[in-house]
Amino acid sequence: MTGYVDVHAHLTHEAFDADRAQVALRAAEAGVEVVIVNGLEPVSNRQVLALCAEHPHLKPACGIYPVDAVAHKIDRATWSHPFDPPAPFDVDAEVSWIDAHADELVAIGECGLDQYWVKDQAEEQERVFRALCKVAVKHDKPLIIHTRKAEARSLEILQEEGVVKADFHCYGGKLKLAERIAEAGYYLSIPPVVVRAESFQRMAQKLPLERLLTETDCPYMGPDRERNEPANVPLGVAAMAEARGIGAGEMAAAIRENCRRLFGI
Ligand SMILES: [Zn+2]
Repeated sequence: MTGYVDVHAHLTHEAFDADRAQVALRAAEAGVEVVIVNGLEPVSNRQVLALCAEHPHLKPACGIYPVDAVAHKIDRATWSHPFDPPAPFDVDAEVSWIDAHADELVAIGECGLDQYWVKDQAEEQERVFRALCKVAVKHDKPLIIHTRKAEARSLEILQEEGVVKADFHCYGGKLKLAERIAEAGYYLSIPPVVVRAESFQRMAQKLPLERLLTETDCPYMGPDRERNEPANVPLGVAAMAEARGIGAGEMAAAIRENCRRLFGI
């Protein structure tokens, strides 16, 4: 039987503090052979390396999340979102740290552009994103991209930076642009929320099979309102296969092969 892959998980999130090892074990029992655990900033990047060292099927990716990338520039007095602004850190030192550890990573990410939570720091966000693109190209590593309300710009930057290997995670832009992303040779990973989200079902139906991947973005984006986890990937694959009108086995095999092609695992 073909194994499953989760190319974007946040297993260092505090939602997993009580049962992290069991969650990793449940993933393996559900046939999830590869879980790429993504870091966001200095603290989680180091936790990702430590966690992945304990479990052979967990693979590390380190990056700088676009909201954290501008933490040092956020005006705390006018911040109005329902969560605290991220803690500031030395972004350039973190880019250097990722560069120094790149050979231990299966990908650089997550990183990208976010014009949803932070709208006024596009320039600094792009600077950090481009720096991570350069690290990825230098070490021949794929990028795992977060992009919200900046999908076209992210594609443009990847091409300007000469990036050939990238996955757009939880893509929420227009289908037409997703098709251009796939045509450019990049991949798009779909989370288990696809069981109840028509936009992801349409992506699973319309995009080339050889450009689709699966992820969880856990603890978010689950099949129900509960905490998401990598063991839910088979549910997502079944929903993707149904949307496309093919067998779940065929869908899983294609995704497994795509993961090998992009990440080499
Ligand atoms: Zn994420």
